[in-house]
Amino acid sequence: MKVIRGGTLVESNWQGPADLLIDDGRVVAVLAPGADVDPAAEVVDATGKLVMPGGVDPHCHVGFTSGEFTSLDSYRECTTAAVFGGTTTIVDFAIPRPGQSPLDAAEQQRQKATDGLCDSALHACVVDWDDTTADQLATMAQDGIRTVKMFTTYAGETMANEHTILKTMQTTRDLGGMVIIHCESDAIVTDSQTTAAATAGIDAAHMSVTRPEIAETAAVAAILAIAESQDAPVYFVHQSTAAAVELVADARTRGLVAFTESVAHHLILDDSAYGGENPERFVCCPPLRSADAVEELGQHLFTGHITTIGSDHCCYDTAQKEVHSHDVRHMPNGLPGVETRLPVIFSRYVRDSNLTASRFVELTSTNPAKTNGLFPRKGTLMPCADADIALWDPDVEWTVDVDALHMATDYTPYQGMTLRGKPVTVLVGGKIVVQDGELVDGTPRGRHLQAAPLDFEGGRRTQV
Ligand SMILES: [Zn+2]
Repeated sequence: MKVIRGGTLVESNWQGPADLLIDDGRVVAVLAPGADVDPAAEVVDATGKLVMPGGVDPHCHVGFTSGEFTSLDSYRECTTAAVFGGTTTIVDFAIPRPGQSPLDAAEQQRQKATDGLCDSALHACVVDWDDTTADQLATMAQDGIRTVKMFTTYAGETMANEHTILKTMQTTRDLGGMVIIHCESDAIVTDSQTTAAATAGIDAAHMSVTRPEIAETAAVAAILAIAESQDAPVYFVHQSTAAAVELVADARTRGLVAFTESVAHHLILDDSAYGGENPERFVCCPPLRSADAVEELGQHLFTGHITTIGSDHCCYDTAQKEVHSHDVRHMPNGLPGVETRLPVIFSRYVRDSNLTASRFVELTSTNPAKTNGLFPRKGTLMPCADADIALWDPDVEWTVDVDALHMATDYTPYQGMTLRGKPVTVLVGGKIVVQDGELVDGTPRGRHLQAAPLDFEGGRRTQV
């Protein structure tokens, strides 16, 4: 039994001074500050700290193979970095290799969960609908894999056509699940890439013009039309522009169950990075947008139109990024970020822009738990929740340095950035795993989390 004493508890809907009693891996009680507890309870001093539910990263690629490249981390490495960054649940993707079935991909990725220092869940992925897909989706739903990723881009690799998207939406809806979708119009992207190759250039420095904002906006509009025709819930990953976010918000006002995820790098970094020394290190899809677009996107953290913040973590190193940096069409896309997601958002938006700590918890922990069917086991510190807890020092000032991070790569896109606030002590399942910034328990205790059926009422998700 432990008592976390003297801190300020931050939940998505309130915050205040409270002690937290935990036992057997779960939260037992939220207590008045200084309340009597069993004298045998170990005291964890949280004076001056914010006590938050551990982060839930809804978008995390672990050891992901795409084309000739595989991102560099194992479950052990990814979850170690996650925990250092205050995240205690990751949701990974089971994206089939060419010729592999969605179910095989899920079973293969699912086995890795036990190597994790924290729990994990999985998104399935459908590329081509065939007469076995409905049964595979039902089998995965039985195993608590209820969110199904699709892509409108990467033709010949993971792109799904409209037939596949329609059938997957219908089936997933009926299984209590939800489609999650990467929206960029492949035709517009291809056209922009061809034009760039013939004019400005197709190297990493020209990443922005190869995947313009309209490619995202057009695909979001098309997918919303299909989802609305089927009354099928839909979750848009990594929305990078205010225009895309607002299309989803409008659909929500018409009654569609639709969610916007934004990812940390689109909320912090802008396309000036492509004009810098190592543009290849910032190549991701959608690309980083203009400083004005970042500003507009960030405003939607305050309007409520953004539901979750993920990392879209993908752990390539500089050498992998450099192989084809002269031609972004062949580069590995994605940025390392599972460890930095929470600190960069906390610093930029809570400390510098007055986003409330509660809204921060909602965006980075509670809502991701809800959209993934993991709430109230994750995403809260109410009694019975798993005792996955991050103690934050909200005031400490520090400078991001790749040498002090734990991700399996040699760079961070935030190198040299000065931040305020960071998680200092992190508990997973009631065990202290990171204490004062040091790993004190590296025992893998990760479990594959089974998502509950998403809870709909009158066509609306009740809890988000
Ligand atoms: Zn992704």
